[in-house]
Amino acid sequence: MSDAKNTKRTCGGPSPPKVSQQGKSVSHCTATRKVLFQSTFPKVIRSDRVEINYGTSINSASLDPDQYNCMPPLSQIDQILQKVNEGEAEIVLDYGCYSVETIRLFKKFHADKVIQDQVRNEIYWVKQGNYLTVDAVSHLDENYVQSLLEIVQNHAQNDVVSIAGYRYYIDDLTYLFSERWLSNSLIYQICLMLNTKFTESKTLVYCASDVMSQAGFCQKMYNDFANIKEGQLILIIPVGCYNGTYFMDSMQITHEDGSKSTVNCNHFALAVYSLELDMVIYADSLGWGIPDSVKTIFRNVAQKMGKPCPVYNMCHQSGSNVNNATHKCTNLCAPNYPLQTCTSICGVSVIVGATLACLYRKGFYGLAGINSHLSSGNIGYLRNISLYSKFLRRVIMHWIVAGTINVNMLVVNLPSSNRQECKSALNADSPHTGGDENYMQRCESMGNFIFAFTHIYTYMCIIYM
Ligand SMILES: [Zn+2]
Repeated sequence: MSDAKNTKRTCGGPSPPKVSQQGKSVSHCTATRKVLFQSTFPKVIRSDRVEINYGTSINSASLDPDQYNCMPPLSQIDQILQKVNEGEAEIVLDYGCYSVETIRLFKKFHADKVIQDQVRNEIYWVKQGNYLTVDAVSHLDENYVQSLLEIVQNHAQNDVVSIAGYRYYIDDLTYLFSERWLSNSLIYQICLMLNTKFTESKTLVYCASDVMSQAGFCQKMYNDFANIKEGQLILIIPVGCYNGTYFMDSMQITHEDGSKSTVNCNHFALAVYSLELDMVIYADSLGWGIPDSVKTIFRNVAQKMGKPCPVYNMCHQSGSNVNNATHKCTNLCAPNYPLQTCTSICGVSVIVGATLACLYRKGFYGLAGINSHLSSGNIGYLRNISLYSKFLRRVIMHWIVAGTINVNMLVVNLPSSNRQECKSALNADSPHTGGDENYMQRCESMGNFIFAFTHIYTYMCIIYM
């Protein structure tokens, strides 16, 4: 297994802003996010006067944002730099006279301000707490969340850090502290972590794009799974949808006027290939269909292993969301499999799905509707996965700081207000014993109530504070 890769792709959301490396403003390039958070930046004021005196040099000024009262908005900075990016010039604005280098520095201050806002939001996100699951979880430790928050604050945005033996980009980690999209490089590290459990899980987890780029992958699978009857291959797949066609990674399209462009993926899906059942369980939390290239991968793996072409079990049938309409479950869907109602949880959903398939296979099969008599029990809350974003992101943070994955953290205990009612069911529930479906439904309706109440309460506090 290799270290953190240099390639980065984000699915489910925009890429984070990069700290500009342009110019000679060294001190702030390497500033920790905490320092940026505590910095004061110049006021943004559009200057009516913009005079450019070419060939005139002026002394470079301070790199410290405190030394400036005002700076132009980003759009005006870009206009100025388009004209004078090369060569020497003096730029005269309403509020002062600046070198080109200083104008570039102002641009960097804008990028730093974006990070400052991010840090503010991260602190607020952590402060908001866990909502309904704060009493409902047995193994999650909020101290791990705090530790990770300190790590991301005490590094610069572009740093790569090693945590418990795994390497992460700081800006990848910051995605966890909000409702932002996760990146494939973060998911890649989680795959490495899951693969250390192979002896227990008999499962290997890969990002599908990596499989495609690895020569001899099928042979490797053949070797890894030799003599393991109940083996599983899990692929985490970056997918996209264009005009009803589902694709992996990206797709070239030709427009009516003959011009070509590329559409990139913006979503993650999960495929679990059971070598025992000769079946691929395809799990997409938006209910999208399976790309042809994914079927090709599994056909090749099956062929190499001397297995029949696998059958496909779709957790959500894709027929109901033609032309990108929102998925509506039919009686062919697995009603308990996570279906997202937000736009940002697909990365979390594939991590959770892969973890369950590896380490709590019975529970995963219950969610996926493979065996109807298997209850999804105390993980049944996952069907409303978007409601539990704050909790599940915290679980992933805990795993990252601990450097190991504990599937028991996904097993939700009772909300305290409902503890008495469900006491007997609680005793029966564990990842290895299955659970009581009705119990989870009861608890969930209570949970939804608490969730809604917390939201209303927070809203009222904001209004009246
Ligand atoms: Zn469905």
